[in-house]
Amino acid sequence: MDLLNNLPEATVITGPDLLEGYRRDESHVVGELPLAVVKPRGPAALRELVRLAKAEGFGLVPRGAGTGKAGGCTPLGRCVVVDMGEYPGTIAVSQPDLCLWAPASAMLKEVKAAALAQGLCYPPDPNSWDQCAFGGTLATNAGGPSACKYGMTRHWVLAVDALMDDGEVHRFGIASVKCNTGPSLGQLLVGSEGIFGIIVGATVRLIPEPAQRLTLLLPMERWHDLLDLPGQLVAAGYLPAAFEFWDPAVLRELRASGPEEARRLPGEALALLEFDDRDCQSEPFLEGLVEALGPQGEHLQSATGARQRDALWAVRRMTSSHLKERYPGKVSEDIVVPRSRIREFFQELEPLALPAVTYGHLGDGNLHVNLLTAGTTEPLALERQLHALFELCLGLGGAISGEHGIGLAKRDAFLRFADPFQVHSLRAIKRALDPSGIFNPGKVV
Ligand SMILES: Cc1cc2nc3c(=O)[nH]c(=O)nc-3n(C[C@H](O)[C@H](O)[C@H](O)COP(=O)(O)OP(=O)(O)OC[C@H]3O[C@@H](n4cnc5c(N)ncnc54)[C@H](O)[C@@H]3O)c2cc1C
Repeated sequence: MDLLNNLPEATVITGPDLLEGYRRDESHVVGELPLAVVKPRGPAALRELVRLAKAEGFGLVPRGAGTGKAGGCTPLGRCVVVDMGEYPGTIAVSQPDLCLWAPASAMLKEVKAAALAQGLCYPPDPNSWDQCAFGGTLATNAGGPSACKYGMTRHWVLAVDALMDDGEVHRFGIASVKCNTGPSLGQLLVGSEGIFGIIVGATVRLIPEPAQRLTLLLPMERWHDLLDLPGQLVAAGYLPAAFEFWDPAVLRELRASGPEEARRLPGEALALLEFDDRDCQSEPFLEGLVEALGPQGEHLQSATGARQRDALWAVRRMTSSHLKERYPGKVSEDIVVPRSRIREFFQELEPLALPAVTYGHLGDGNLHVNLLTAGTTEPLALERQLHALFELCLGLGGAISGEHGIGLAKRDAFLRFADPFQVHSLRAIKRALDPSGIFNPGKVV
């Protein structure tokens, strides 16, 4: 694309072979070939990109590390992918302000490590934390296992620096938890999936690194006994920093074809719990926990050393990629229901007889329902299956996405099920912030 030849402060990629890799993220969606990929290295490149996009009528598709699971960074129509991987900036931790600033290009693992190096903690922990970019986590409002205690990315963002429709980078928010100057444009950008502008950096809140962690494996003899435990625990005053689970079907799959450590996983179903309370390694804490779990408490196994803990988490983290390797055409949903409705969800899921395996974040009701055979299911039948799944979780007061977002993958379902007032309002905001429609066209709304 000749137009981009003179773009300042940028790497421009136009070779069709290289562009091919930018059609996908980690979802099942395959986008169109972009006109080019641009890796901006400064504000002059961003300014010029906005000018050209408006003048030439092409879209700008922001991209982080491409680990998204909603097809959000996959191009649609005449688009240039804006890969933020080379955008400059150094992570800066402020001890007195208990926050850090990082560029969108930093990897999330670098952001977490920078906090930890100063005895601090940045809690958001999507299971892709060692592969995804900070900017991507902001744009998708990523959440992970610790969301049941610490919330999503949104809950940690103090200020956002973003390229807006005027071609300039603006800062929305300040480095303090207190800033109450009307509705927050920074928070609007968090989770906006690149449809309002491009995030170039952000200031996020930190907390002291927890002094202790307790990681436990809870094998279940009867799978259904697991379903009330998240609610039971919080009612007894135990708030886990993670409560993950595998249902019997996914455990069977992992035992049959997973790596060595997965083949030995015990139980009909299994939970992985983690606590980070100050006294969580003390006897009274553990005794109280066993009591709160009732008869299931007898089966608790604790990970004693860091190596054992890492091994347990490695199995949890590889579940998604292992299934994807075995079933490349699988569709991975990430519906959510309130914690109090988890049992009802599974009771009502059974009669639907979906060819699904389920695992994920039981602690906050965010369940990864994976339709493994989706790649070979007739499209109309697949649509019926997904429709039934979405109706079920919406009927229980849930949502069609707990963490991955809407992107392209769930756009139709979002438009079908969302309150028309919400859709109308989001479109009005989109028109106000992006009147030329250049930012990530065709996504979300
Ligand atoms: C194995 C695995 C496990 C995962 N586990 C979780 C999990 O536990 N929780 C969770 O929430 N997600 C999870 N994900 C999904 C994904 O990793 C997260 O959504 C992550 O935040 C995406 O970051 P990314 O840098 O890869 O973004 P990308 O995939 O590159 O982009 C995601 C979206 O954000 C937009 N975007 C990216 N960068 C910017 C920017 N700078 N400005 C504006 N818009 C931008 C894109 O246009 C797109 O819409 C998982 C993915 C994998 C592969």
